[in-house]
Amino acid sequence: MTSIEIHDEIHTQLHETARVDYRKPIIHNASVPVLYEEALKYEKGTALTDSGALVTDSGTKKGRSPKDKRIVDEPASRNDIWWGPVNTQMTENAFMVNRERAIDYLNTRERLYVFDGFAGWDPKYRIKVRVVCARAYHALFMNNMLIRPTEAELASFGEPDFTIFNGGEFPANRYTTGMTSTTSVSINFDRHEMVILGTQYAGEMKKGVFTVMHYLMPKAGVLSLHSSANEGPNGDVSLFFGLSGTGKTTLSADPNRFLIGDDEHCWSDDGIFNIEGGCYAKCIDLSPEKEPEIFAAIRFGSVLENVVYDHASRKVDYANSALTENTRCAYPIEFIPNAKIPCVGGHPSNIILLTCDAFGVLPPVSKLSADQAMYHFVSGYTAKIAGTEDGITEPQATFSTCFGAPFLVLHPMRYAEMLAAKMQEHKADAWLINTGWNGGPYGVGKRVALKYSRAIIDGDIATREKLAKLFVEHFVSYADKASKEVIAAGPQV
Ligand code: ATP
Ligand code: MN
Repeated sequence: MTSIEIHDEIHTQLHETARVDYRKPIIHNASVPVLYEEALKYEKGTALTDSGALVTDSGTKKGRSPKDKRIVDEPASRNDIWWGPVNTQMTENAFMVNRERAIDYLNTRERLYVFDGFAGWDPKYRIKVRVVCARAYHALFMNNMLIRPTEAELASFGEPDFTIFNGGEFPANRYTTGMTSTTSVSINFDRHEMVILGTQYAGEMKKGVFTVMHYLMPKAGVLSLHSSANEGPNGDVSLFFGLSGTGKTTLSADPNRFLIGDDEHCWSDDGIFNIEGGCYAKCIDLSPEKEPEIFAAIRFGSVLENVVYDHASRKVDYANSALTENTRCAYPIEFIPNAKIPCVGGHPSNIILLTCDAFGVLPPVSKLSADQAMYHFVSGYTAKIAGTEDGITEPQATFSTCFGAPFLVLHPMRYAEMLAAKMQEHKADAWLINTGWNGGPYGVGKRVALKYSRAIIDGDIATREKLAKLFVEHFVSYADKASKEVIAAGPQV
């Protein structure tokens, strides 16, 4: 079943649900070497690097296209959705036109790839996801990013809970109702389907699954969060919130802690769980000295997107942003040596809000009260730096509510209120960490060195408690003459 073969059950399902051509060879949950060979044989811009990673080219789109994302306006989900610029409406008919266009395109291909996997490490909440695509690159990407099923789980997979039809090499028709470009990324919650046209950027699939979890999980009383997570040797869990480029992936891969996940988590009554089976790390300026764990994860099995490499030696030039600033690598989470499998943990003790402040105003670390934590969570301040989104080439101040507005489905306050309640119930401490500029704004000051951000997170959070205690102990001798207000202005420990 995990090789290239005609597989009756999947053919029947795809034919019945999507009119996918019966005679098409379907390469279903193929092994990594098979997908490597397929990609190298059939896909332009594909190559092997000297470390064994597969280099791929995502075409003209080298980042997500948030302006081309659409959610179908249909009765079952209509009243739950936070309509607006993040969730732009699309008619059911326009969705079906796009779906048909994607499937027609897929039917013109000589071979199709299907990957079946799970989203969510907690078996209670996990969903079955199916990816149907025309590129081995996309199948391998989702093999790395979803939770890979065992042989037995695959054999009993049955019908998926959510299906992605990726016809990204083929454009949307601009005359289809509601289309404003040739790129379309659309989700229909009632049909449990996503359709991609006009972008081959694989991150759209990953974030599509995340969007679905943002719809389904809160309905099940589980909070979905744009965050990374790791666990200390004593089992204490830290969650790191932050927008793109603030350091979730980089800072969660900490040699002193166990990695639970780098981008998407859920917080249930039992603790936290990662949604994904892999990580998606930025590669620009990556070095083995600064980020040894991530550097070493770029090996056989990894998908390396849009990097420049030397054609003779096959060495990657990580400093080269000629194709995009947003060079990326997708690898299975177990490629990080201290990953925690299964990727679950207890209730978080520290909530770390990461922000990359381009104005150089915020201090490197601040302790937040519960209300301040909420304020910053709802604000979601950062500077967008060159990277994940198309068209951003220099820092730009931005606010993205819940540190993840592009992926929210319900009203932001639904997530914020759940977070406030959970933080209070589990007495989590909250911190604001500026991984951005210091000593002046962008252009004048410098970005806080990664080693300092790491040191702050690993050491200073504890040291701060120590210093605060010294303040309180020292102040005791003046307390009888000082007003209540002045005493209250000191650190609270
Ligand atoms: P995304 O949501 O797009 O995956 P992310 O929050 O995971 O974004 P990272 O991939 O960790 O962000 O990107 C942070 C980038 O900033 C990395 O390239 C890292 O090397 C760089 N960097 C520079 N200084 C710091 C710092 N002080 N803390 C964290 N990252 C830093
Ligand atoms: Mn990341």
